[in-house]
Amino acid sequence: MSESVNPQLRPEMAKLPTYKAGKKVAPVNGLTAYKLSSNEVAHSPLPSVVAAIVDAANEINRYPDPFTTNLIQALSDKFAVPAEQIATGTGSVGVCQQIIQSVAGAGDEVIYAWRSFEAYPIIATIAGAVSVQVPLTNNGQHDLAAMLNAITSRTRAIFVCTPNNPTGGIVTQQEIDEFLEKVPENILVVIDEAYVEFNRDENAIDGIATLKAHSNVGVLRTFSKAYGLAGLRVGYFIGPKNIADAVRKTAVPFGVSNIAQVAAVASLEHEAELFKRVEEVIAERTWFESELTKLGFKLPPSQANFVWIPLGERTEEFALRSEGIAVSIRPFPGEGVRISIGERQALERVIELAGEFVF
Ligand SMILES: *Cc1c(COP(=O)(O)O)cnc(C)c1O
Repeated sequence: MSESVNPQLRPEMAKLPTYKAGKKVAPVNGLTAYKLSSNEVAHSPLPSVVAAIVDAANEINRYPDPFTTNLIQALSDKFAVPAEQIATGTGSVGVCQQIIQSVAGAGDEVIYAWRSFEAYPIIATIAGAVSVQVPLTNNGQHDLAAMLNAITSRTRAIFVCTPNNPTGGIVTQQEIDEFLEKVPENILVVIDEAYVEFNRDENAIDGIATLKAHSNVGVLRTFSKAYGLAGLRVGYFIGPKNIADAVRKTAVPFGVSNIAQVAAVASLEHEAELFKRVEEVIAERTWFESELTKLGFKLPPSQANFVWIPLGERTEEFALRSEGIAVSIRPFPGEGVRISIGERQALERVIELAGEFVF
């Protein structure tokens, strides 16, 4: 019998990690199951946003506006940035991929902190680029001095995720200003602000002001978290015009559906209502952190809609036990767990479980 031969893949595919999406758990003995593993907001969509989506559903026989004109205009007004500096994509993960494909090819280097957002290594690898991962400091903060030292003639982009997923800490304006003074201006610095709406530390980066002050800085933002549109896939980049142009060119044509465009515009119109929910999440985060601190945990302070518990070797045991209480959390084996700030009942169960994991 002849052995079957499969079509050849690019060698990079062999080392490509698979994105680990947050899992759903099964209900246990009548316990309602909760998902605290993907940093979604637990609130259902606003009725006004659903109404806009329902309207748009009547036009799905048509291709969407490939230039996402109305959305870009709304963002341009909101941030007082020229429309030509803004580009959209299928979630900010899609935009991130468009950015890396625009600036980094085979053998080029992309620097980012580690641990940080799991999509970065996947996207860099797909582009054929080399990931340069700079360890976070012991308390989960970006080590910008070390990131500066990691720059070489092959560096094409640097990602700074603030608040950082999964550790929740921020980079301060002063830190980034000092950093940017020393980064060569032909290297793109992308500030990933997926969780910026949840930040209440006034020393944190103001991404928009920073990009306005530098010719090599851009921000990456999303409608998936604070705006509650994770299921619709829409995110955006604001930054140097040549990069925004390239992000438009590398996009999958018609990737952002009309439904997503309309929902994003409606969400910007109803931002005040959505941001009340953000306040609720922040109040819950404060409560959750203080309960864990009372138990004896030392947590890196979170400015996002999740909390990082550094459980080290006990991470997998905690993840397994959380299945028993019908709550899905996000374990990073050997390091810690990331818990999204969701329903109170789920958080209470997590606190009770955590009580058994205090050293
Ligand atoms: C969730 C997240 C995103 C956004 O992803 P979308 O593709 O917009 O849903 C981007 N960056 C980070 C760090 C995230 O955690």
